[in-house]
Amino acid sequence: MRLRNVKGSRETIADSDFVVKDEESMKGKWREKFGNDNPIHIEIGMGKGKFIIQLAKENPNINYVGVEKFSSVLVRAIEKQTEEQLPNLLFVRMEAEYIGNVFDKQEVDYIYLNFSDPWPKDRHAKRRLTSVQFLERYEGILAEDGGITFKTDNRPLFDFSLEQIDEAGWIKDNVTFDLHNSPYVEGNVMTEYEQKFSEMGNPICRVVFHPNKK
Ligand code: SAH
Repeated sequence: MRLRNVKGSRETIADSDFVVKDEESMKGKWREKFGNDNPIHIEIGMGKGKFIIQLAKENPNINYVGVEKFSSVLVRAIEKQTEEQLPNLLFVRMEAEYIGNVFDKQEVDYIYLNFSDPWPKDRHAKRRLTSVQFLERYEGILAEDGGITFKTDNRPLFDFSLEQIDEAGWIKDNVTFDLHNSPYVEGNVMTEYEQKFSEMGNPICRVVFHPNKK
């Protein structure tokens, strides 16, 4: 059975209190929704949620929002969160392009991009989640001292991303082409794809960067 056709995933999403419906009405109201003033961190393209669920467990004083466009994987994250009942974790099913309609200026303190779709064709470059077009959208929602961590095993996508970060005038804090054999590995939380691809022997690339808001 193809995962995308899992029966009932739309219903599971509609029924879950952990999925924010009508997400555009939440713009500027996320702290109210969580009921506290804690920082808000988001993962865009969270897949089945392994990474963000672990972060939410480890950091109860940070609020997390997992963004995912596909119901078939989102439903797996909902299943786990239904068991865990973490009060600091919510999900949104949406296309990331519209992120600026869902979070207000400076409402997000940190963004994680993990193993984003490569969109290998040149004419699809704008769809890559690290394109200058997306960086501009992120700048519109990030707090003054906000930043982004991007991980991937896809070297062409990573090289493209480093170029786009420069082109957008953002600042790189650190870069590694082999995270698991670098000092930055300490405290690293593995994503589902990271586990899969590193087991296959692929080195994991990671960049930490932030907008230049001088
Ligand atoms: N972050 C997870 C999953 C990586 S796969 C991990 O590292 O294990 C990439 C995920 O991003 C997929 O689930 C895909 O549906 C989602 N995604 C890709 N482009 C997206 C977009 N534009 N908006 C929302 N989700 C997106």
